[in-house]
Amino acid sequence: MGACGCSRHSELSIPLDRASFGGRGLCYCRVAQTDLPAGASPGERGMWGSPRTELAGRRSWKGPRGISAFTFTLQGAANAGSGGAVPPSRWARQQVPAPLTQPGPPRSRLSYVEINISKARMAALFSTLPFADKSSLMMMMMTISILNVAVSVNNDHSSKNRETADVVSGNGSKPFPWDKMRLPKHVIPVHYDLLLHPNLTTLTFTGFARIEITVNQQISSVILHSKHLQITRAAIQRRMGNSHTEEVVMVLEYPPFEQIALLAAFPLHVGQNYTVSIEYSANLSESFHGFYKSTYRTQEGEVRVLASTQFEPTAARMAFPCFDEPSFKARFSIKIRREPKHLALSNMPIVKSVSVANWLVEDHFDVSVKMSTYLVAFIVSDFKSVSKMTTSGIKISVYTVPDKINQADYALDAAVKLLDFYENYFSIPYPLPKQDLAAIPDFQSGAMENWGLTTYRESSLLYDPEKSSASAKLWITMIIAHELAHQWFGNLVTMEWWNDLWLNEGFAKFMEYVSVSITHPDLKVEDYFLGKCFDAMEVDALNSSHPVSTPVEDPAQIQEMFDDVSYEKGACILNMLRDYLNADVFKAGLVQYLRKYSYQNTKNEDLWNSLAHTCSAGDTQEGQLQGDGFCTRNQQTSSSAHWTRREILDVTTMMNTWTLQKGFPLVTVTVKGKTVHLHQEHYMKGSDSSPSTGYLWHVPLTYITSKSDTVQRFLLTTKTDVLILPEEVEWIKFNLGMNGYYIVHYEDDGWDALISLLKKNHTAISSNDRASLINNVFQLVSIGKLSISKALDLSLYLKHESQIMPVFQGMNELIPMYKLMEKRDMDDVENQLKGYIVNLFKDLIDKQSWNDEGSVSERMLRSSLLLFACARKYQPCVDKAEEYFMKWKESNGTLRLPNDVKTAVYAVGAQTIEGWDFLFSKYRLPWFNTERNQIEVALSISRNKDKLQWMMDQSLLGDVVKTQDLPHIIVFVAKNPSGYHLAWKFLKENWNKLVQKFELGSASIAHMVIGVTNQYSTREQLAEVKEFFNSLDEKSSQLRCVQQAVEIIEENIRWMDINFEKIKIWLQNNM
Ligand SMILES: [Zn+2]
Repeated sequence: MGACGCSRHSELSIPLDRASFGGRGLCYCRVAQTDLPAGASPGERGMWGSPRTELAGRRSWKGPRGISAFTFTLQGAANAGSGGAVPPSRWARQQVPAPLTQPGPPRSRLSYVEINISKARMAALFSTLPFADKSSLMMMMMTISILNVAVSVNNDHSSKNRETADVVSGNGSKPFPWDKMRLPKHVIPVHYDLLLHPNLTTLTFTGFARIEITVNQQISSVILHSKHLQITRAAIQRRMGNSHTEEVVMVLEYPPFEQIALLAAFPLHVGQNYTVSIEYSANLSESFHGFYKSTYRTQEGEVRVLASTQFEPTAARMAFPCFDEPSFKARFSIKIRREPKHLALSNMPIVKSVSVANWLVEDHFDVSVKMSTYLVAFIVSDFKSVSKMTTSGIKISVYTVPDKINQADYALDAAVKLLDFYENYFSIPYPLPKQDLAAIPDFQSGAMENWGLTTYRESSLLYDPEKSSASAKLWITMIIAHELAHQWFGNLVTMEWWNDLWLNEGFAKFMEYVSVSITHPDLKVEDYFLGKCFDAMEVDALNSSHPVSTPVEDPAQIQEMFDDVSYEKGACILNMLRDYLNADVFKAGLVQYLRKYSYQNTKNEDLWNSLAHTCSAGDTQEGQLQGDGFCTRNQQTSSSAHWTRREILDVTTMMNTWTLQKGFPLVTVTVKGKTVHLHQEHYMKGSDSSPSTGYLWHVPLTYITSKSDTVQRFLLTTKTDVLILPEEVEWIKFNLGMNGYYIVHYEDDGWDALISLLKKNHTAISSNDRASLINNVFQLVSIGKLSISKALDLSLYLKHESQIMPVFQGMNELIPMYKLMEKRDMDDVENQLKGYIVNLFKDLIDKQSWNDEGSVSERMLRSSLLLFACARKYQPCVDKAEEYFMKWKESNGTLRLPNDVKTAVYAVGAQTIEGWDFLFSKYRLPWFNTERNQIEVALSISRNKDKLQWMMDQSLLGDVVKTQDLPHIIVFVAKNPSGYHLAWKFLKENWNKLVQKFELGSASIAHMVIGVTNQYSTREQLAEVKEFFNSLDEKSSQLRCVQQAVEIIEENIRWMDINFEKIKIWLQNNM
C-alpha cells in the first residue's frame, strides 16, 4: 500500500500521473491544467479514538513530575493468593490503598501504580531517538502512564465482576524494563488467538488476545506493542508438567514507544512454551488506520456504519496487543462477534459461525498461514459480494456497499485473470483458499494488500462501464495488479524491516507493468512506465532525498518511507536490472528468491544473491556464459569488450550503487569522430555545478545511433570511460526507452543533432525516447548545463507529436513554467507562454472527437488535452463544452455525457455560480459516485474564492465532502491562481487539525505540504514558508516533506532568476 505525493511542477494532474498506476493513492499530479479527477489520493488519518490510556470515567492524577498515574483496584475474584498471583509488594515500591470512589463490593485485592522515570532512562531514551524532538519527547514522557494491574487469579477470562478501578496517586518507582523502540528478539510469537467484538452503535470494541510465545533467553518480562488499548487483564500461562498455571501479571505501558511490558513474577525459561493472554477494550478509530469506523449513505439517504482495518505499517497494535514488527511472523486464528444483519470478513474463510446470543453471532475464521501483523485484516459490514473461481480453484470475491454491487464485475474479472497470471508466473501457488477484494467507503491510500482480504478505496475498485473514464479502468487494473503482486512480494516474502520497504513496494509497482501488459494488452501499460522514473527523479534530485534502503525507527519515519523513492525508484531500478539481465534470467532469479524465502523475511542482499546465482552456474569462462536469456545474449554481444567482463555478474555490487546511495547519475556523452567519451556525476538540483558527493554508479548504458537501431550495451562503472563506435555517426541516443535510471547530456553539438532529428523525422526514435529527451533537456536546464532556449527549441517539434507520453511530458515541463508566473503576477510573459503552449498542441486538440472512442491511451490523451484547452480558454473547446453543459443542465443531469470529456465540460460549467451550484447539487447524489472526483476537479477550478474556501472547509468537516478527499482538494485549490493564497492559509490555520487527522509523516501530509507550496518562487514566499514551519514543533519542522518544500522553492527562485528574461526573449523570437 502507500500513499502519494506530487511532482514539483504538477498542476491539477492527469490520469497518467505516477499515482494512477500503483498500489497507492491516485493523485493526479503530472502534467496539465487538464486533468482527471483524483480517484484516490493520500487519504487521511483521523484523530485517535481514544487518546489516553486511563479507563474511561476515572480520575487521572498528575504526579509530582507531571506524570499521570493510575491505580486500579480490583474487586470480585476472590481466590487471591493461589497459583501465581502477583504479590503487590513485589512490584509496588510504596503501596497506597486505593480509596473507593463509589460504593461497591469489597475489594479483595488492591493494586498500585508506581511511576518513576529515572534520569538514566531519560538519557537512554534520548540516545535511542536520534531524530526525535527532545522537547516533544519530554512532553510525551510527562504524560506517560504506567498501568499496574494486579489481579487475583481467575482463570476464567470472561468473569463478569472481575474488576473495577479507582485512580489514586502513587509515587512508587517501576521503570519500564525496555528502552528501545524495536522489540527485543528473545520472545517469539508463534500463534495468535484473537476474539474481537466491535459495537457499531457505541463505536467501541472489546478484544481478547491469547498469544503463544517461545523464549530464547530467560526473561522476566514480555514486551510487546499496544496503542490506545485499555487493558483490563493480562496473564501468562505456563505449563508445569501436565497442568497449566496462569499468573495474572502487572502491565506497564510506555506510550512514547507504543509498548507494554507484562511483568512476570517468576522467570520465563528458554525452551518452554508460554501463552500470554490480554483482555482489552478501545474505541473504534476515527482515523483511517487501526480498527476504524467508516460510514456511507444509502440511496435512500440512511447513514450506515461499518468497521474495517488498516494496519500497515504500525497500526495492528491499535486493534490488538502484538509483536508489531514485520519479522515477527505468526499464525492467526481470528473470531469476530457481530450482529446477525452484518457479515464479517478476515484473511481466511469462515469455518463456522455460532450464535452466542439472540442478537450476536460469532464467526470463527480458519487458521492463517504464517504472516506479519501488518497483514491481518477484518471487516464488519453489510456489504454484498460477487464471486468467481480462478482456474486453480481459488474463490475470488469483490465486496462493496450494496448499492454499488453492480460496479464490481470489472474488478472481479481483472482479479481472476491477474491471480491466474501470478500463480503461473511465479510458479508458486497462491496459498489461501480465497481472495476477497473489498471497497471501503473511507480509505486513506489507494489500497492495501492484507493477505486474502485486500482493501481498496471505492474509486480504486469499482468500475461502472456506463460512467467510468478510461483512466479509471487503467487505474483499477493496475492497483489490483499491485495488491495481488504483494500476495507474493510482501506477504509470502517480507522485508525484514521497514528500511527495505522497497522490496515490497518497488516490486509490487514493477509487477503491475509485467502482469497487466500480459493480462490486459489493450491497456498498453508498458508505454507509461517511464513516467514512474521521471516522478522518482523529481524528488530524488533533491538533497533531501534518501537512499532506497534507509534506516528508520519510529512510526513517523516509517510512514515517510511510503514515498516515490521506495515505490517508483524501486520499480525503475528493478526494470533497469531486468533490462540488463534480460527478462528470463530476471524472472528465474525472482522465482528462486520467492521460493527460498517463503514465509520468511529478507534484506537487499538476499535478493541480489538470488538474481546473481541464476546465471553464475554456467559462468566458468569469461564470455562463455551458458544458458538462456542473458547468458546467451552475453555471448552474442561479446563484440563489446566491456560487456563480457566478469564483474557484469556482480549484481550485488552493481545494485548497491543504486540502493545504498541517494540520487542518480547524469551521464555526459561527448562524441569525437568514432570515439565516445563518457563521464558520470551525481545529478543534484540546487546549484549550477554538480556537487562532489563522490558517488559512482554502475550504469548499464544502452544506445542506438543514426547508423544502427540495434541496441548496444556498455557497463559504465568508473567516473569516465570511452567507447569506440564502428563508424562515425550523425547522432547517438542513450538510455533506450528510458529503461535506465539516469539522464544523459549530449555535449558539443550532440543536442543540436537530436533536435534536428526530432524536427525532421521524430518517429525515427520511439515515443518513449522522445519523451525521455524532453525530460532530460529540461533537467539539464535546471542545473545550468543547457540554456532554456535550447530546451524550448526542442519543444517546438511537439507541434507534430501525437503520442501520449511525449505530449504529456511536454505539458509536464512547459505548464509549470507559467504556473510559477501565475503566482507572481507576471501577466505578459505568462500569457505569451500560455499562448505558445496552446498553439503547440492546437492541431492535436482540434483533432479530438468528443466521444469515448479509441484505445485507452487515445481516450486519456483526449481527456487531458480537452481539459487543458478548456482551462486555457481555447475558444472552440470552451464553446463546445458550454453547449454540452447547458444541455446536461437542462436535462437535470440525466443526459449521458461522454465519460472522457466530462471533466472538461464540468470545468467550464463550474465557472459560473449557477453552474457551480448545479454541479455541486449533483455531486451529493449517490448515482454520481463514479464521477465525484471529476466533479471535485471542476469545482476547484472556479475563480470564486468563497466557493473554494467552502469546499476546503466542507472536506475538513467530512459530511458532504469526504475527508479522504481533503488532501487533493487543497492541492487542487493551491494550483488555482484564485485559490493558492486560500490553500496556504488553510494549511497554516488548520495545521494541528490536519496532523491530528492525517498523522505526521504520512504521505497525505507530504502531499499537502508540497502540493500547496511547490509553485512558489519568490524570496518572500520562501521566508513565509520557512517561518511557518520553523514555528512548529521539531517533529513537524523536520519532516522530509518540509525540507523538500523549502528546497523546491529555493530551486524555483534560482530557476526564475536565471531563466525568466531568457524565456521572454525566446517567446518574442518564436511566436
Ligand atoms: Zn504496495
